[in-house]
Amino acid sequence: MDNKKLAELLFPDVKTTCKDYEEKYKKRALPDGAQVTRFAPSPTGFLHIGGLFAAFVSERAAHTTGGVFYLRIEDTDKKREVENGILGIVKGIRDFGIKIDEGMISETESIGDYAPYIQSKRAQIYRTYCKALTEMGLAYPCFCTAEELQSVREEQEKNKENPGYYGKYAKCRDLSFEQIEEKIKNGVPYVMRLKSPGDENKRIAFDDGIKGRIEMPENILDVVLLKTDGIPTYHFAHAVDDHLMGTTYVIRGDEWISSIPIHLQLFEVLGFKPPKYAHISPIMKEDEETGGKRKLSKRKDPEAAVSFYHEVGYPNKAVLEYLFTIANSNYEQWRLENPDAPMEEFKFDFAHMSKAGALFDLVKLTDISKTYISKLNAEEVLEQVLAWAREYDNDYYTTLMKDTDYSKSIFAIERGNEKPRKDIAKWEDTPQYTKYFFKRPTEYEFPENLSNDDMINILEEYKKVYDHNDTADDWFPKVRDMSEALGYAKAPKFYKKNPEQYKGHVGDVSSVIRVAATGRRNTPDLYQILQVLGKEETMTRFDLAINKLKED
Ligand code: GLU
Repeated sequence: MDNKKLAELLFPDVKTTCKDYEEKYKKRALPDGAQVTRFAPSPTGFLHIGGLFAAFVSERAAHTTGGVFYLRIEDTDKKREVENGILGIVKGIRDFGIKIDEGMISETESIGDYAPYIQSKRAQIYRTYCKALTEMGLAYPCFCTAEELQSVREEQEKNKENPGYYGKYAKCRDLSFEQIEEKIKNGVPYVMRLKSPGDENKRIAFDDGIKGRIEMPENILDVVLLKTDGIPTYHFAHAVDDHLMGTTYVIRGDEWISSIPIHLQLFEVLGFKPPKYAHISPIMKEDEETGGKRKLSKRKDPEAAVSFYHEVGYPNKAVLEYLFTIANSNYEQWRLENPDAPMEEFKFDFAHMSKAGALFDLVKLTDISKTYISKLNAEEVLEQVLAWAREYDNDYYTTLMKDTDYSKSIFAIERGNEKPRKDIAKWEDTPQYTKYFFKRPTEYEFPENLSNDDMINILEEYKKVYDHNDTADDWFPKVRDMSEALGYAKAPKFYKKNPEQYKGHVGDVSSVIRVAATGRRNTPDLYQILQVLGKEETMTRFDLAINKLKED
């Protein structure tokens, strides 16, 4: 067969050569050890937490080695595409502060010298490389119909043979030029296949960055390179793109491991240096039904979607911090030793990545988030709460915006000290958490062990001694003295020793004050709450509570 003639017959429009592209996309000049990595999702708009994790790991691998991280959109599967799907991904990773050096930045625009960073715009490139393979006798057209392929599958199943297009099943492998020409003339649809040089008795081996050394049989399948519509398969696009874009380290989900023999073979026949690979196991979840583990599922688990974290308002940094803990087993120890260091200072490496899938743990994320938020100052909290509320809770946004100084003073309570309060995990919790600052209580969780008269008495007395100018140090002794004067023990321990001598203890008294002011028994520091509410409002609330107690 005259392969050159065949290539011309199949690709008459392709005038470009591989050399043109090799020259256009220059080899990257990077320091030794610098890794070029990428995130290469399909534009489905849906960013899975596993995708974010892969993007995060890839970004870290590049930026801790002085390399490059880029975003390539793999839109070869038109069925999976959705409107604005690219934007969802671009925004999804940008919102998490995962910085790309190159690649798509909107539906249509990109930055960087290796454009287009979207596969549908690279058709000419794939066709050029496929033409070159045809010229080398390493690619051929296959006219088999879906029905024919189905019957091959059935036969292989019956004979308990490996599935796929190879050996005697590769019917179009040896078509003559004339046969091909005839079919092309008649407009018979076809795909382009690799003429695999593989030997089923040989094995390949490679060192996976996460999973270690892996050995597999060599590829013997004549896999599809270009589909009927001329669009490349994942395999072919992966080889061509990662070569031309200078990727040194392909980090991706471990569902691709079984395709490694195909990929290494493609790099070989194309004359490309293969990248290193690291395959990430999927993020798992305890399955309540079976008690076992299963993959975090897009359908069953809301937390599988990155949008979930935005909606409920986990701060992005807290989510990233959590991803660090599942990425590297030594991260938590590092965090203990460096409680205030920016997480980017942690030296990520593949050696500390778990071979098995990390178990997703919402409780741990909540804990990390509480610690993260507790370290923010009031201004930062307000800023992030507002950004969340603007998108997800308009009423709350309006409420907070009415008087931002007041709003800030609420978030300043028990913050900025040695041991800040760790009570907010996600912004969604804040409307309820701060409600009583914006709305006078109508329901009261008064202690059950005191009578209404006693409580009225406490509040009346407290109104007399309350001084809004008292410092935090003066405040409590005053409550204590008043308690004693009204017949309450000045400390719980005295009450416990001789309960019959007292009506209760100072804790009951401050509880009455707290509930009168907020409606709740559990709140942050009472002194600070009253300071934020202001004298007038505090007095009004005591009066309202007294009235309520009188009514009941
Ligand atoms: N587009 C592929 C996917 O979404 C990318 C895999 C890779 O990173 O190479 O699974």
